[in-house]
Amino acid sequence: MKASKILISVDIEGVAGVWRLEQTQAGQSDYERARAWMTQEANAAVRGAFEGGATEVLVNDSHGHFGNLLIDALDPRAQVIQGKPRMLGMMAGVDQAVDGVLMVGWHSRAKSRGVLAHTSNSFAFARVWLGGHELGEVGLYAALAAEFGVPVLMASGCDVMADELHALLPQTPCAVVKWSDGARSGRSLSAEHARSLIASTARESVQRLADARAPLPVFRLEASPIELRVQCQTPALADVFALWPTVERIDGDTVRIGCDSVLAAVRSLNAMSTMSSVLR
Ligand SMILES: [Zn+2]
Repeated sequence: MKASKILISVDIEGVAGVWRLEQTQAGQSDYERARAWMTQEANAAVRGAFEGGATEVLVNDSHGHFGNLLIDALDPRAQVIQGKPRMLGMMAGVDQAVDGVLMVGWHSRAKSRGVLAHTSNSFAFARVWLGGHELGEVGLYAALAAEFGVPVLMASGCDVMADELHALLPQTPCAVVKWSDGARSGRSLSAEHARSLIASTARESVQRLADARAPLPVFRLEASPIELRVQCQTPALADVFALWPTVERIDGDTVRIGCDSVLAAVRSLNAMSTMSSVLR
């Protein structure tokens, strides 16, 4: 079996039992419990990755201020990437010679029917297209990982996120830990069941990487330049983004920017996200 270094990117909206915004926001009621659940789902993936043959695991804290995971509760075999800002966003660590990425606790894109659906910044962005594909965080960051030659080995989250993943990467396993009835409601596995499912899916997906005779499929955007198109939540946000000279205004609430790589597009989107804070 080949040695493998695995990156686990962990968000919170796709964690079992997380339905409400208050659970995702530092300082709000129930956030402290939700971040502990997030840490335990990360641990389940760490355990599965090592059982599947990983020799090294990096865990990337990928929600909000990127400082949610409780490191005193984290599996001691893993190292954790935290803090903001960072160039690679939710894929920080993908440039450190990793062999595969696990997306744990991820959610569906803005305007979809998934639990707590949004794309990078729910205040700023209504819809995002990259290279002509309408994408959420799963697609944007799968494309970024692909640019580094790294496959997404598995994901976990709600059923709508799973459908979004499978539209891009039909073979990639997904641990569905909850089913959406709406943006803030649905049915969830228990925390214990969700963790065992994440661990077994992680184990099998890392094993699959070790056993693969050919590179696993990746979601690669071939276009060059790659157009990043963003429909903003309000025209006032488009006013702010259009201050940046390479941003072109398409209409009242939509802007575009030509990017020479997925990394440039992700950096542009995250820079616009930061710019949007002047209107909050
Ligand atoms: Zn999040």
